[in-house]
Order: sequence, then C-alpha cells, then structure tokens
Amino acid sequence: MIYSTGDDFLSIINSRGIVLNSFDIKENDKIVWMYTEKLGKISVIARGARKKNSKITSLIQGLCFANYSIYKGKSAYFLNEGIIIDSFQDLLRDFETIAYSSYICELINLSIPENEKNFKVFENAIKALYLIKNSVGDIELLIRSFEVKLISSMGYHVNIEKCSECGSSFNNKIYFNNRNFSFVCKECNNSFKEVSLICYTTLRALVNFPIEKIYRINALPEAKKEIGFITNVYLNEICCRRPKSLDMLNFL
Ligand SMILES: [Zn+2]
Repeated sequence: MIYSTGDDFLSIINSRGIVLNSFDIKENDKIVWMYTEKLGKISVIARGARKKNSKITSLIQGLCFANYSIYKGKSAYFLNEGIIIDSFQDLLRDFETIAYSSYICELINLSIPENEKNFKVFENAIKALYLIKNSVGDIELLIRSFEVKLISSMGYHVNIEKCSECGSSFNNKIYFNNRNFSFVCKECNNSFKEVSLICYTTLRALVNFPIEKIYRINALPEAKKEIGFITNVYLNEICCRRPKSLDMLNFL
C-alpha cells in the first residue's frame, strides 16, 4: 500500500478523526481504521499501543473522537499523538446506544472507499454520535436520517419531490422503484411498492432537515419501518456487505 499524494515524505498531518475499529498486529502494535476530516478513511499504525501505560491506548479506543497527529511513512500512516475531544465512551452505556453508534462506524467502513474525503459524512457522523450520547430525540429516526444523508453523499439523489419518469409533482400516490432507486407517480408505476403517506412525509422531512433538527419530527413506528426498507435497498447497493451492528437489537 503506497500513499503518494505529492506531499513530503514523513510529513505530519493534523486532523480530527474518529476511530472506526482496530486490530492487533505484530508485537505491541495495532492497526487502527479511522475516519478523518482531512484524509478520509485511512488505516493508521499505532506503534506500542498495546504496551502497558502507553500514552496512545486511550486515543485508539473504538469511537474515540480526537485531534490526531499522523505522519505519513513510505508505505503507511503512523499515529504520532493526539488530543481527545470526546472519547464517546458514554455510548457504551447500554445495548441500544452501543448498537446504533457501532452501526454508524460500520456503515462508514462498508461504504466509504479508502482515502476518500467526505466532510458531510464526517460531520453527520460526529453530530449523530453527540445526539445519541445526549439522548436527543428518537434514536431510530436519527439513524434513518444518517442513512438518508449518507446515501445522498454517495451520489444517489433521493428525489421525493418529483416523479423520476415524467417529472410531475406527487399529489396522490407514490411508488418506490427499487430497481433504479427512484420514486414514481401512479401513472408511471410499473408494479413497484407503494409508499404510504406517513412514510412519504417523514422521509421528505429526513431529506430536508439537517440531522441536528431531526428530533423535531414525530414518526410513527410504521413510517420508520417503511423508511428502513427503502434505505436498506440503497445500502445493499452502496455497502460491500450487509452491516451487522443492529442485529443485536433483535435479541432484546
Ligand atoms: Zn410519473
């Protein structure tokens, strides 16, 4: 893996980032997957991270949000040091917050290509984690909002204002074309799944409201379930495999 972006060899990069996951490698080292503001998703080698009293151990815990100082070696990034902004360890307080916050990290891991920057996704992930931490609003709806915004950031235009076939505005029934990820009117419907009115209005709010305003939306369980079905169709296309973090909620 050679990173050559024209920068000087061994240059130091300072960036905010969040730890997605990490794995033990030889001796006392770890490899850490991070989603950073300036470099996108990267793997970073944390030398000596498994040593007792290592200063960097707390910086590489899952979900840790910090200002990282990273240097670029000949063939990899290395963690130099960092200052924690929020360790987000409060999110480990119960199964629900663990499942949903892990799901955010897992979605980023499965959908964003290595070294690809996307400030909007980074910003929404951090905001979502703060909102979950502070128990602001409906956590499930917040996650659906994160999914909708991630889908848009990945180049899928979630257009629910106009029929994708004829361009007319939706004024009665609306159908989801799961084959080309679009919404069509009654006249253009070709045995697609009908979207209920409550799902449509809630989804529209999720598309139009910034993630920090989602707590203002009251959504019925049926609407959230239906939106989950729609986002899942997109995510199956975007992610390299099915995310598993939410599976644990099925056993509660
Ligand atoms: Zn139409």
